[in-house]
Amino acid sequence: MGLGAEASSVIKVIQYDITDLDVDAVVNAANTTLLGGGGVDGAIHRAAGPELLEACRKLGGCPTGEARITPGFRLKARWVIHSVGPVWRDGAHGEPQLLESCYRSAFVLAKEAKARSIAFPCISTGVYRYPRQEAARIALKVMYDHNGNFRSIVACCFDAENAAIYRKLLAPSPLSGDDA
Ligand code: ADP
Repeated sequence: MGLGAEASSVIKVIQYDITDLDVDAVVNAANTTLLGGGGVDGAIHRAAGPELLEACRKLGGCPTGEARITPGFRLKARWVIHSVGPVWRDGAHGEPQLLESCYRSAFVLAKEAKARSIAFPCISTGVYRYPRQEAARIALKVMYDHNGNFRSIVACCFDAENAAIYRKLLAPSPLSGDDA
């Protein structure tokens, strides 16, 4: 799956700490309680400050596959969009649909907030154990669907393995420049 030059000028793959990005909205890989956790969730809460937890408490949780929005508080980002990805079991428990839905839900909220730049972590690929290649395919498909509405869509990978997977999937096909 190559996405072609037009899409990849909006969609960027970086290997970086998402808490330090200067974008309108950062997406958090949250859990259903929205009360913080480890991984990227913990990092976002530490960087945004205790006001973020207070704001999340008022939301009363979020089902898997959905998203909620709060201010970014001490982050450079104006918004945090808390999206709840599925825990990987075997792929036969709706995991692909739920992962796609959590990316789509995040984009809906970002558009409502008039965000023009947004960054995503590799949702569900940490302690939720979603296979990375498959997770990246889903993430990039949804990003591609929204690339007309945003100035910048950042796939913010934390580790080299995810960054390599995303870069390979995003690269235009050497033969046609079309989907391959
Ligand atoms: P999940 O429970 O959805 O699997 P994790 O936080 O465990 O969430 O992992 C999701 C992804 O976020 C993993 O690929 C992990 O490497 C990545 N990650 C962890 N910390 C950060 C960070 N500061 N910035 C961006 N990505 C991060």
